[in-house]
Amino acid sequence: MKREKSEALFAKAQTYFPGGVNSPVRAFRSVGGTPLFISKGKGSHIWDADGNEFIDYCASWGPLILGHANQQVIKAIQTSVENGSSFGAPTALENELAELILSNNKYIEKIRFVSSGTEAVMSAIRLARGFTKRNKILKFEGCYHGHSDSLLVKAGSGLVTFGNTSSAGVPESVVNDTIVVSLNNEEAVKQAFAEFKNQIACIIIEPVPANNGLLLQRKEYLQFLREICTENNTLLIFDEVISGFRVGFTGAAGYYDVQPDIITYGKIIGGGLPVGMYGASAAIMSNVSPEGNVYQAGTLSGNPVAMAAGIAQLTECLKPGFYEELERKTQFLIKNILSNIGHRSSNIRLFSIGSIFWLAFTDQKTIRTAEEINPDSMKHFRVIHKELLERGIYLGPSGYEVGFVSEAHTEADLIQTAKMFGEAMGKI
Ligand SMILES: *Cc1c(COP(=O)(O)O)cnc(C)c1O
Repeated sequence: MKREKSEALFAKAQTYFPGGVNSPVRAFRSVGGTPLFISKGKGSHIWDADGNEFIDYCASWGPLILGHANQQVIKAIQTSVENGSSFGAPTALENELAELILSNNKYIEKIRFVSSGTEAVMSAIRLARGFTKRNKILKFEGCYHGHSDSLLVKAGSGLVTFGNTSSAGVPESVVNDTIVVSLNNEEAVKQAFAEFKNQIACIIIEPVPANNGLLLQRKEYLQFLREICTENNTLLIFDEVISGFRVGFTGAAGYYDVQPDIITYGKIIGGGLPVGMYGASAAIMSNVSPEGNVYQAGTLSGNPVAMAAGIAQLTECLKPGFYEELERKTQFLIKNILSNIGHRSSNIRLFSIGSIFWLAFTDQKTIRTAEEINPDSMKHFRVIHKELLERGIYLGPSGYEVGFVSEAHTEADLIQTAKMFGEAMGKI
């Protein structure tokens, strides 16, 4: 497989951007080799600068649930942009996307559009703090919530710890208000509430943790979080930037039927353009400015072209059977991969929910916490990733990342993918 053009582009990019990229995982550091520069996508396939073709399971890290360059989305973008790309004034398209979301989601009543998942979560945390008049927040080791300061923390060694900053440039004073505990552990959460009585503004969780492997939680655990938050007048935030419109139109809240207080969305909501959103009851949202005193704004918020793309994509997602079909395809892919890798499958698990899947090198039946992932197993992923690329299958370049099946993946794609998995696995 030729890589010359990607290599030349990457060499040039390294003179412009730190690490040659505009977001760290893209640099292929954890799998090695040169990142491929993508020149085109159509449906389930992408092409790199050297003309190599791949079946894509990265899907821009989740947003592209209809695949690349979907006709409806393209048409909506074209029509909208002809009328101007931004006004900094309200447009009917914002109402239209809000109506589409709210009339199909019983878990939220009012929303605010922003321009990324990070911004949605950062704003949701501010809202929770403003609403409860408390400062501390509780998050879980292994959940990613974007790159805002108070969430760039990792757990210390105790059952309940204040986070250690996981990035230079984030002051200890900021993360001193962030409590970090392990997933799937009722006791740790109870202890945090005992220790910090009436101080915790919110618990934030990815109800489907999918940024550090796929750490599927028990429904009872999410219900427990709901109850302990209610008892303590603490808000429960579901960060559904990855699970929203993915495990179903109403995300994990609908999948598990657990009512959070605030929900954040991103990724799929913008149809491949930069959109984020947070939403809650009308009472909670009334605290957001200009109605309330929690300030939050954005020059490009509710951008009409991005709204149009979101409307087009979510309209497709609402068609009957859409999510059932995605799940069916995902199970078909997994079943075929497992049968192709044969006897080697005893040390491999393909965890999945809806159209999200994660390949783990383990013999454990479940993995629910970050600590259960063996970092040493990532050496196997490095081999698989490289071998799959050589065979025209594109996975996100890290063993901690999940894969996504889209509406555009065909049965032929899935069969071919499973076959290539079989071959690649033979190289381990
Ligand atoms: C992707 C993601 C974010 C960050 O969204 P960006 O658009 O990358 O800022 C936050 N939370 C979760 C759960 C995510 O998956």
